[in-house]
Amino acid sequence: MAAISSAPERLPGQLAGPADDFAEGDGILRRQSLRESGARTYARSLPVVPVRARGMTVEGADGRRYLDCLCGAGTLALGHNHPVVLEAIREVLDSGAPLHVLDLATPVKDAFTTALFETLPRELAEHGRVQFCGPAGTDAVEAAIKLVRTATGRSGLLAFSGAYHGMTAAALAATGDTAVRGAAGEAAGALVTRLPYPYDYRCPFGVGGDRGAELGTRLTANMLDDPKGGIQPPAGMILEPVQGEGGVIAAPDSWLRRMREITASRSIPLIADEVQTGVGRTGAFWAVEHSGIVPDVMVLSKAVGGSLPLAVIVYREELDTWRPGAHAGTFRGNQLAMAAGAATLMYVREQGLAGRAARLGEGMLARLRGLGAHHSCVGDVRGRGLMLGLELVDTAGEPDDHGSLPAAPRLAAAVQREALQRGLILELGGRHSAVIRLLPPLTITDEQSEAVLDRLADAIAAAERDTREGAA
Ligand code: PMP
Repeated sequence: MAAISSAPERLPGQLAGPADDFAEGDGILRRQSLRESGARTYARSLPVVPVRARGMTVEGADGRRYLDCLCGAGTLALGHNHPVVLEAIREVLDSGAPLHVLDLATPVKDAFTTALFETLPRELAEHGRVQFCGPAGTDAVEAAIKLVRTATGRSGLLAFSGAYHGMTAAALAATGDTAVRGAAGEAAGALVTRLPYPYDYRCPFGVGGDRGAELGTRLTANMLDDPKGGIQPPAGMILEPVQGEGGVIAAPDSWLRRMREITASRSIPLIADEVQTGVGRTGAFWAVEHSGIVPDVMVLSKAVGGSLPLAVIVYREELDTWRPGAHAGTFRGNQLAMAAGAATLMYVREQGLAGRAARLGEGMLARLRGLGAHHSCVGDVRGRGLMLGLELVDTAGEPDDHGSLPAAPRLAAAVQREALQRGLILELGGRHSAVIRLLPPLTITDEQSEAVLDRLADAIAAAERDTREGAA
């Protein structure tokens, strides 16, 4: 195997003029840094100018090819430009169908909704409603929070440490990262009660494992039931079944089931944010399926649009107390996204790609654990399906009372840079951005997964060496 070399490949024949394109790529990057806002994110750590992409391979203007383990922050379930997605988009374009229709009914939308409902947990498929939102994940989170507030007449929200729900006001308020929340999210944040997420490696109770997770559920129930505990009955609880941006932290199934019981018995709507975990990513079509729970609201975006912007919420019909126009928006009818999304949902389902993600993920996790055993800077290796993470730690730092070392953000950034040099695009996340995140497409081949792991192993070794030499 290992037909894919560990160095970025130059494809001179495929570009009109590599030298020109290279110079043009540099110019584009320079102009971007001059003209775009200081809030640029990925563009800072990944100075790549993609000009072509297929599957998990991205080709930069410099003629280099990269294996993409960022995949639009987990959006590209089928990788870039998958043939079934392109065909679905072309079909709409060639048919003369309108591309913009507000929330009017169309055959394309009808087909998307049918494809979506075929994938949903049975109770939601049979007794659920769908609301098409503005096109981003954060729009759907916003809609979900507004929905439960309208339905319950309450305003408080339960959310979790480490959570990421988006950048608009209510979503930002529910997000755990105080640095990104800043003053903009502070007022709305006052309505949020933050609870500990079961982060085994850095367990807030210092015990970890099932016991640590259980203590979190006990605390939740206790706070809700204590008449002098200071929490008003909330409008809902929002959680990610696997925290992505928070650092690839999968909640134990027993924890999710207990949270479902706690919320159901207190008539608190449970919102599952599956923006990143949905469409096979974690090894089940929807991540909530691992635990068997059915939430009251599911928030869906990223992969449901098959690489184009689309976001929806799906929820139990009893919550549908919205009056006409209660949640409007101009861009709720993206026909191309619906066609691409329907094609993606059907393909993932028909090809059993969730099961494939589970199997491949297990294999990758095992190899990552092996890698971790060779590098003391790898504090923890974890993941579910093809949502994988390595938490890097500072081996010279002081362990906490649970034995975990401090996060190593500079080392993680160095690994990301070294990986890029070796033709691998990686994402960072977690506390202090010290978690290396892998979000390959569900279509990744065995050969590609080997190449990803080889490049990552080299990158970690190089970054570790540099850090050691820098410290000496
Ligand atoms: N929820 C989760 C769980 C996410 O991972 C994200 C994006 N990373 C969002 C919401 C927000 O989605 P968007 O960036 O499309 O607004």
